Amino acid sequence: MSAEQSAPPVIELSGVRKTYRSGAIEFEALRGIDLEIRGGEYVAIMGPSGSGKSTLMNVLGCLDVVTAGSYRLAGEDVEELDEAELARIRNREIGFVFQGFNLLPSLSAWRNVELPLVYAGVGKEERRERAALALERVGLGDKLDNRPGELSGGQQQRVAVARALVGEPTMILADEPTGNLDSVSTADVLGLFQELNDAGRTIVLITHELEVAQHASRLVRVKDGLIVEPSAVAA
Ligand code: ADP
Ligand code: MG
Repeated sequence: MSAEQSAPPVIELSGVRKTYRSGAIEFEALRGIDLEIRGGEYVAIMGPSGSGKSTLMNVLGCLDVVTAGSYRLAGEDVEELDEAELARIRNREIGFVFQGFNLLPSLSAWRNVELPLVYAGVGKEERRERAALALERVGLGDKLDNRPGELSGGQQQRVAVARALVGEPTMILADEPTGNLDSVSTADVLGLFQELNDAGRTIVLITHELEVAQHASRLVRVKDGLIVEPSAVAA
């Protein structure tokens, strides 16, 4: 039994459904998802466009609520938490990485990375120190003062990963993180995720590309709002 199999689940989804309503029209984007992810796993959630991946990401990230079913994050029932408790568990458990990097263009790399710590009320000196450490960890120790526009796409995504890591969350939740990157930068960011996972970080990577998904150690396929085929990735 591997370490992951004995680790407690970070994510437990059971019978999760999500219905979008606009006026009289309803659309069921998730139609009964059961999924368990354990600490230290590297899981790819893969499916074609429109299959429900971003909806699932929003649920996993506590950015949206489920219509039916249950979601336990780090053992806590997400539906039962109020706004303040949700913000607390989200900050503790999850670092987000998005397709479009979502960096502030007028701020230097380290100022982008320290932002989550500003919201968490961490003092100025500690913020600077921890932002520098996070940037060193993603290989950008020499780019602290560069603005996003002075960095390549791959480097910008590394800054975004540093920002996701700076609060020391349990897991990284990434939605199409290589979607805007060329093949060199894609390999660069996937290499970084591998390093982070090797160091014990849980990674959940959402993608529509098999080539990207194959870097994970477990592949979960989603289609039409359902999991079709949870399977180990062939080595
Ligand atoms: P993916 O990320 O896999 O491309 P999404 O989760 O974004 O898929 O969307 C899944 C389905 O739900 C799509 O058919 C999409 O049109 C629909 N959908 C997504 N968001 C909304 C919304 N806010 N209102 C109505 N339908 C939505
Ligand atoms: Mg999407």
